[in-house]
Parts: sequence; C-alpha cells; structure tokens
Amino acid sequence: MFGHEGNSNSPAMSFACEREKSPDAALPPPSDLNNALTFPAFWDLPSEYEISETYPSSTKPRKHWCFLGKIVSSNVFVRLSLEVEDKAGHRLLVAFHTDDRGAAFRDLCLRGHTIAVLYATQHTFAFSPPGLRLEDNAHIKVFPYSLEQLLEASGELFDDGMGKRCEACRMADTSLKKCAGCKNAWYCSKKCQTNGWRVHKRTCSVMRDVQWFTRKNWENNSYPFFFPIRTKGWQVSQ
Ligand SMILES: [Zn+2]
Ligand SMILES: [Zn+2]
Repeated sequence: MFGHEGNSNSPAMSFACEREKSPDAALPPPSDLNNALTFPAFWDLPSEYEISETYPSSTKPRKHWCFLGKIVSSNVFVRLSLEVEDKAGHRLLVAFHTDDRGAAFRDLCLRGHTIAVLYATQHTFAFSPPGLRLEDNAHIKVFPYSLEQLLEASGELFDDGMGKRCEACRMADTSLKKCAGCKNAWYCSKKCQTNGWRVHKRTCSVMRDVQWFTRKNWENNSYPFFFPIRTKGWQVSQ
C-alpha cells in the first residue's frame, strides 16, 4: 500500500494546467498590441525593397502594421539615433532621417520609453547592421511608458474574462459607472472614483493611448494610418 494521495492527484492537475494554457496559444486579436502580425518584431518586418513593389496590396506582415520597441539609449550626433530593443529582444539602430533629424522627438526618447513606427521596414545601413531609417514624422510616436506597460494595457482591453468590479472597493455590480477617461475602469460611486483615482491615474493614460491602436482595423483599413502631430487631441475621446 503506497497511500500517496498526492501522487494520484498530480496527473489530473497537470491535465488541468494544460487545458488552461491552450487559449494562450491562440493568436491575440489583430488590434491587440500583443499580436505579432500587426505589431511585428524587427526580423518579421518586410524589407524596404519588398514594400516599394507591393504596397499597398502587401499583406505581409499585414496591410497595416506598426513596429514597437523599447528605447535602450539615444545619441544626437548629427541626427537623433537610438538603440532600440524589439519584442523579441533583438537590438537595432533606429536613425532619424526626418527633415528635422529627430529634433521633435529628442526630449521624449529616454531609456525605457517606447517608440512606435508605422509601416516600418528593414533598412540596410552602409556602416551598421540592419535597422530602421525613419523618414516621416507622422509615422513616429514615442510613449513615456515601458513596452511591457503598453502590452499589458492592451491585453487587458481584450480580456473580458473577468466580471466588472469597482476599481476601488472591488464590488461587483450591474450599475457601475465607467471612467470617462479610458472607458475601461468602473466605479460604484463618486466616492470610490475619488479614492481610486490616485492609483488609476497612470493606468488611465496608458489605457487611453493604447486605444489609438486597439480601435483600428489593422487588417482592412482602406487608407494608411498616421500619428497625430500634436499631443493634444491625440488621445481617443469618442
Ligand atoms: Zn466602489
Ligand atoms: Zn480611466
């Protein structure tokens, strides 16, 4: 008689774990920043030559896509150039060949911030390994958040697995009121909203910024996307 009750439990438990893992294996929705086709790593980007021939009919990686990378360091000799780490952990050079040589973005390009580049392509530099050669300010946006924060906020927007709860007291209720800023946090009362704001404040602005991406149709939009130039009016208000 072995009598190890724990042993008889383990096969069933590991089965349960595997079952829980399977939904994660599915590709996130196309508008989720965690989707690797819409928001590809550097080596999954098309090369600059490929795009000039096939755009806008190209579907690789998508008709519309955006590169996301964390800023590791920046340099302003001649032009702004960054060392950036992509989603896969690969480091590359991002060089500003825009009209102002990156002046518009210089103050925001700090270590740990995130750069987004619409329609980014692999560029072959003469004297350094392949990277991004940025030419259009309207395709560039720098966020004062980490890439992890943005990915997490995006994932949360698509996660409707949990029932709505008051952000402050965690009460579940059908009559909860939405946060007017991000429309992704709920409160049971004015008092809870006031109490919860100190904690929610930062998440709220990340959420609002992320919705610029998550509310777009990245598969079939008929015109190219561009980032608004000014911060004012940038965040989604409708
Ligand atoms: Zn509450
Ligand atoms: Zn909010």
